[in-house]
Amino acid sequence: MKTLTQIDIDNFSATIRGRVVTDTDSDYDAVRSIWNDMIDRRPKLMVQCSGTADVVSCIKFIKESGINFSIRSGGHNIAGSSIRDDALMIDLSTMNSVFVDSKNRRAYVEPGALLGDVDHETQLYGLATSLGINSTTGVAGLTLGGGFGWISRKHGMTVDNLIAAQIVTADGESIRVSKDAHPDLFWAIRGGGGNFGIVTQFELQLHPVGPEVFCGLIALPFDSAKETLKKYREYTATLPDEMSIWAVIRKAPPLPFLPEEVHGKEVVIMAFLYIGDEESGAKLIEPVRKFAEPHGEFFGMMPYKAWQQIFDPLLTPGARNYWKSHNFERLNDEMLDVIVEYASKIPSSPCEIFIAQMGGYTSRQAITKTAYVHRKANYIMNVHARWDDSSEDELCIAWARAFFKSATPHAMGGAYVNFMTEEENERVPSAYGENYAKLTEIKEKYDPENIFNLNQNIKPK
Ligand SMILES: Cc1cc2nc3c(=O)[nH]c(=O)nc-3n(C[C@H](O)[C@H](O)[C@H](O)COP(=O)(O)OP(=O)(O)OC[C@H]3O[C@@H](n4cnc5c(N)ncnc54)[C@H](O)[C@@H]3O)c2cc1C
Repeated sequence: MKTLTQIDIDNFSATIRGRVVTDTDSDYDAVRSIWNDMIDRRPKLMVQCSGTADVVSCIKFIKESGINFSIRSGGHNIAGSSIRDDALMIDLSTMNSVFVDSKNRRAYVEPGALLGDVDHETQLYGLATSLGINSTTGVAGLTLGGGFGWISRKHGMTVDNLIAAQIVTADGESIRVSKDAHPDLFWAIRGGGGNFGIVTQFELQLHPVGPEVFCGLIALPFDSAKETLKKYREYTATLPDEMSIWAVIRKAPPLPFLPEEVHGKEVVIMAFLYIGDEESGAKLIEPVRKFAEPHGEFFGMMPYKAWQQIFDPLLTPGARNYWKSHNFERLNDEMLDVIVEYASKIPSSPCEIFIAQMGGYTSRQAITKTAYVHRKANYIMNVHARWDDSSEDELCIAWARAFFKSATPHAMGGAYVNFMTEEENERVPSAYGENYAKLTEIKEKYDPENIFNLNQNIKPK
């Protein structure tokens, strides 16, 4: 890398329509902060892009100067891959428009848009695309890694809904990719993460959803957790695509529908969404109410947009987070024992174990349809260690690691790249399984020098 002078930086800044932020700016700390408070890095320059031309200027400058860089959209990545010390951060959070073509059921989404921004615009027309469960997550990182949430069993992963994308390649060219244009690159970005270029627009398929859906939470006692999870396993295997039930095991937050004596105690929460009418939803959820005597419940018809934000208060930025994740085809009895064992020694109250129900439409797609490969996973488990004080780092990280290790013999072996931590780069080939070889070839074609390397990195062949 050549030594950058102030003149180099000024000349580069003159090519930018957005804003270049350095550590002399009063908002430097605000601009560099990301969701996971464990990550504290100091970029040299942060370019708040206002459009594709700024992104192209960044790539040209990076190639001329040799400066390292990172790409930031929603800033939610647990590994902190959107920020790097002494580097240039291409900050796309300022490009966050969402345009809905309701007639053709399409959304045109800029990379800085958050999930809530998309739901806000699409729900105006009673439409939605498949996105995640926390409204402040970035559409860009989520989509490029796969993307799943409450309506994935019915409408697929986010990558199944990607129709086309505008992408700035390692050559600094802005191209449109779709099934007819650069189909290899289009295939690779549907799961291959930020390895292939910088996406400046996503074109997403929309579906009629809501505006009200049947959804809610049922909190069940922890002392019968294993029996409850067995019933959960058997019952979820019978559900129609319209219904998704996730199991969340954690210490109960002080929710108004829970008796005070349960607050802060371990509970098994069944969280669900049904795309359909109240009567059918209520019938489908009735057996769940009988898994055990509930501590409390809260469900009914609710605006889809509100449900998409229901977990936001538990997932605010500013906390310390460390995640581990496994995929399961089936949750065997031994695995349920592991869950109960580690749930009973949760080290800090915001920690939780999330079991997302997959299957449905997502699992009926061919493994080679997109770079996202985990079509056979019926459950994705996220061991979510979360705490506030750095003095608890060791304790909470050790809990997540030990849990992950004990669960490994019962899991499928692959991993969802969007849930991988910094030190898991050796898991990347298994995260892509049989699609990995093809991904390395496409990487060789579009980014032979591996300039896009701050990610779950796919090496050029
Ligand atoms: C609280 C929380 C809840 C979550 N819930 C879900 C969920 O329900 N479902 C789910 O599927 N995932 C979920 N995730 C995981 C989420 O998908 C990833 O964290 C994802 O990386 C977030 O995207 P982002 O744009 O916010 O990330 P950023 O941190 O901004 O970016 C992450 C990486 O993505 C790449 N990238 C970002 N933007 C671009 C771009 N425009 N072009 C090319 N590469 C780019 C880069 O490599 C970058 O380093 C959740 C994460 C959190 C923290």
